[in-house]
Amino acid sequence: MTNRQLFLNHVAQTSTEPLALEIESASGCYLYDVNGKQYLDLISGISVCNIGHSHPAVVAAIQQQAAKYLHIMVYGETIQSPQVQYATWLVSHLPNTLNSVYFTNSGTEATEGAMKLAKRVTGKTDFVSCTNSYHGHTQGALSIMGSEVWKNNYRPLLPGTRLVAYNDFAILDCINNQTAAVIIEPIQAESGVTPANKDWVQAIRKKCDDTCTLLIFDEIQSGFGRTGSLWAFEHYGVVPDILLLGKALGGGMPLGAFIAHKKLMDTFTYNPVLGHLTTFGGHPVSCIAGLAAAKILEEENLIKTVTAKEALFIQLLQHPKIVGVSSKGLWMAIALQNFETNIKVIQHCYAKGLFTDWFLYANNCIRVAPPLTISHQQVYDACTIILEALDVC
Ligand code: PMP
Repeated sequence: MTNRQLFLNHVAQTSTEPLALEIESASGCYLYDVNGKQYLDLISGISVCNIGHSHPAVVAAIQQQAAKYLHIMVYGETIQSPQVQYATWLVSHLPNTLNSVYFTNSGTEATEGAMKLAKRVTGKTDFVSCTNSYHGHTQGALSIMGSEVWKNNYRPLLPGTRLVAYNDFAILDCINNQTAAVIIEPIQAESGVTPANKDWVQAIRKKCDDTCTLLIFDEIQSGFGRTGSLWAFEHYGVVPDILLLGKALGGGMPLGAFIAHKKLMDTFTYNPVLGHLTTFGGHPVSCIAGLAAAKILEEENLIKTVTAKEALFIQLLQHPKIVGVSSKGLWMAIALQNFETNIKVIQHCYAKGLFTDWFLYANNCIRVAPPLTISHQQVYDACTIILEALDVC
């Protein structure tokens, strides 16, 4: 049997029509399939590979750590230098109220941990989140997800959750003395890169302060320079009480984190002790890979290059079939008339060696989230293929 057949038979499927490209290797902004075909990667494994694929510094860090030790002990008991170094790097790049990092394996676990922390710290149980939000697929995260479609088969979910339209000031009326936390993406990912309005975010911050409610920002997709600043919350002049990270955090390895003030995080240490546990969270190989990637992001000044490349995409992507573009940094949603056109365009892009996708709640939009290392020439190459696809589809 071919790998394709074995994949379809034995690897649990989540779609009746998986893409099923068989990738042999990846380097920089390119993926290579088993037939040697090259694909320019326009989506970075959904905002993961911000410094490109298999960066030599990340690969070397992984190899060196793997030769020293892999798993040692469950989370929190032993001093592991990769975790310590990476937590230190993270807090030194965050406001000083975000000075304690709890590492998880994934984004959804970061959401789960943050929800537990908010309940523990506030003694309250309710959550407010937004329609079209995405915070993960485990059952706590699913409870606050902004789409009924993915929730309905799994009820009952957590009680006490409210969904409010993104950027709608009606959210303020839902935040009250029962609310443990409000969770928002400062730039909403899966609705098609929708930035929050600054005055809306600032009003939420104030209402949270007034009602002793924690404010959680999900920066699992928007973090690590994607929007043109290291963290998206920098665009808003607002600091969350808990920050969720994932995706690019691990430099291509699985890693998530929720970050809060130490005095909040310390509530996990008593009554009962071991208030939140994970076996593999903060795996040393993931932490060292993430740290190596974060240093590259910094040393190569990649974030400074984002705005010019965003502008180039927008300048080049002019076509009558494009009905709108929503963007924030190297992260954009190119809206077409409908899903049918979009899927044809995306298929054409695959055929021409450009790897892209649509958005969960905006299937008429082409996803653009390339490695931040993409060159101007590669932006031209990508746009040429998209424009050609729009002509013929
Ligand atoms: N939040 C956001 C904004 C996300 O985009 C994702 C993943 N797409 C998650 C949370 C969940 O992360 P993970 O898939 O690593 O559990």
